[in-house]
Amino acid sequence: MIEQSLVIIKPDAVRRKLIGMILNRFETEGLLIKKLKMIQIPRELAEKHYAEHEGKDFYPNLIKFITSGNVVVMILEGENAISFIRELVGATNPAEAEKGTIRGDFKEQPVKSVTENMVHASDSKSSARREIELFF
Ligand code: ADP
Ligand code: MG
Repeated sequence: MIEQSLVIIKPDAVRRKLIGMILNRFETEGLLIKKLKMIQIPRELAEKHYAEHEGKDFYPNLIKFITSGNVVVMILEGENAISFIRELVGATNPAEAEKGTIRGDFKEQPVKSVTENMVHASDSKSSARREIELFF
C-alpha cells in the first residue's frame, strides 16, 4: 500500500552537513519527496510532536535538542513507506543501529548520545497522519 511518513533530519545531522547524504539515501531507496522545508521547530510544536514522551527522564533534553537549530522536515511517499523508512533509519540508539541503516552508517564513533540520532520517522499510520498534520 502507498503510504506517507513524516521524516525529520534533526539538528545534529544538519550541523554535521549530512542533509544531502540522508536525502540521497531516501531517494535511492525509491521514496518520493512530496513536501520538504527547513525550519527551526518552535518549543510548542516540539512539545506536541513529542507529547508521548512527556515525563520521561530524557524529555527536557529532547525538547532542548530538537529546538536547538534548523531541521529539514519532509513528507516521504512510497510502498509501505512507514515501516520501510523505520527500517532504513535503524535502531533509536545509534550504538545499536546496524550497518546499512542511516543511524548505523552515520553515527559518530563513539556514540555520545541517544538523543542526537539524526533522523525522526513516523512509527505508525496514526502517528504519520498526526505528524503530517502538525508540520504541514
Ligand atoms: P524513535 O525516534 O526511534 O521513534 P522514540 O520515539 O522512542 O524513538 O524516542 C523519540 C526520540 O527521543 C529518539 O529519537 C531520541 O532522540 C530520544 N530518545 C529516545 N530514547 C532515549 C533515551 N533513552 N535517552 C535519550 N534520548 C532518547
Ligand atoms: Mg518515535
